[in-house]
Amino acid sequence: MGLKQIKNLKCVLCGKKYHPDEVDYICPDHDNDGVLDVQYDYEYIGSRFKKSSLASSQEMSIWRYKPLLPVGIDSRVPPLSVGWTPLYQADRLAAELGIAKLWVKDDGRQPTASFKDRASAIAIVKAEEKGADIITTASTGNAAAALSGLCASLNKPNVIFVPESAPQAKITQLLVFGSKVILVKGSYDDAYDLCMVAAQKYGWYNRNTGYNPYMTEGKKTVAFEICEQLNWNSPDRVFVSVGDGCIIGGVHKGFKDLMALGWIDKIPKIMGVQAEGSSYLYQAWKGNENVLTKPAIDAATIADSISAGLPRDRIKAMNAVKQTNGAFVCVSDKEILAALIKLARGSGVFGEPAGAAAYAGLIKSLNTDLVGRDETIVVINTGNGLKDINSALKATKTVGSEPVVVEPRPEALDKAIRKLVPVQ
Ligand SMILES: *Cc1c(COP(=O)(O)O)cnc(C)c1O
Ligand SMILES: [Zn+2]
Repeated sequence: MGLKQIKNLKCVLCGKKYHPDEVDYICPDHDNDGVLDVQYDYEYIGSRFKKSSLASSQEMSIWRYKPLLPVGIDSRVPPLSVGWTPLYQADRLAAELGIAKLWVKDDGRQPTASFKDRASAIAIVKAEEKGADIITTASTGNAAAALSGLCASLNKPNVIFVPESAPQAKITQLLVFGSKVILVKGSYDDAYDLCMVAAQKYGWYNRNTGYNPYMTEGKKTVAFEICEQLNWNSPDRVFVSVGDGCIIGGVHKGFKDLMALGWIDKIPKIMGVQAEGSSYLYQAWKGNENVLTKPAIDAATIADSISAGLPRDRIKAMNAVKQTNGAFVCVSDKEILAALIKLARGSGVFGEPAGAAAYAGLIKSLNTDLVGRDETIVVINTGNGLKDINSALKATKTVGSEPVVVEPRPEALDKAIRKLVPVQ
């Protein structure tokens, strides 16, 4: 078939190029590590896709950028509205932090409440283009919920592998949407390995992160939106939390696309934020270790969405930070919970721990002078706080927020109120 906007799929390890019809997932020469990068024909795209046509586009979703996406121009897209999430100017937080300009991109506002909808939307289209009957993925929870919801919108059967320990809200989403759910008695990494075996064995379409080359392409739409929402001025720096590294690689790809088209004049420095208990990429970056030989670590953090012992998209993730002169930052669970509250109270954006981790990374970077005070900064909240109520409640306890319980009698009111606010 062939898509005119795509030149080829290029292996990030050996540079070998494939026609998109030639391989579905990875370069076969390096076990499962040969992640492919989709290479576009920017001249072709630029000749028929303009900033001005976007300005008049009524399509308020990722599909407004369809000519820059790896899907057929006539391919059916899911009806759920993915993307075009709000970018809030967070002046109060900026003042609190003593920085010039801060924006919060709220991907908790996606249809299944996380950033993963951007990738799963592409997965569904690609699976349909391939005529696949069943789609599968492994996930810490959000990629699963995203695939699940988007499949429900198109009535596509899917099988999902998640660790048994995934937060209840995420597992509930899967069951509500009607996915076939396999709870793995183990970590996300275990679920991933099992899902890979299943996809191969039963011939299912494989959405897995760091394996399916098209997931990066969905995730890059956040960079398009940020630039368009800032009137095509790219920010100085972007903070994003990192587990497998697919989102950060996607963010990088989006800015690279816009540079190649000449639509922006710089690529922001990209800051990858990891949790202390799951800091494979931070360690590798800091210690200049080779991510192809560095073994998996044991991952454990309250930010379940970024708990990954062996980040599957580690090559693209490392490139994103190194090629933009960014940095990896590592934050403790305690710092994440503190940031969750600060972000919510300072901007009204309630993130799940992995989302708030990006904000914790900004705070940490300012404390360690990694970031200049005059920079314009975007923090991406990747997931909605309602995804993980237990962690959010824990966070409120650390700042001493407790409700006051009252008897339903007017006489009891005064005493209760005095515990909460000053009254005469
Ligand atoms: C998946 C996820 C991340 C991390 O994305 P990776 O591609 O795994 O690095 C961050 N935050 C949330 C809420 C996520 O669901
Ligand atoms: Zn290769």
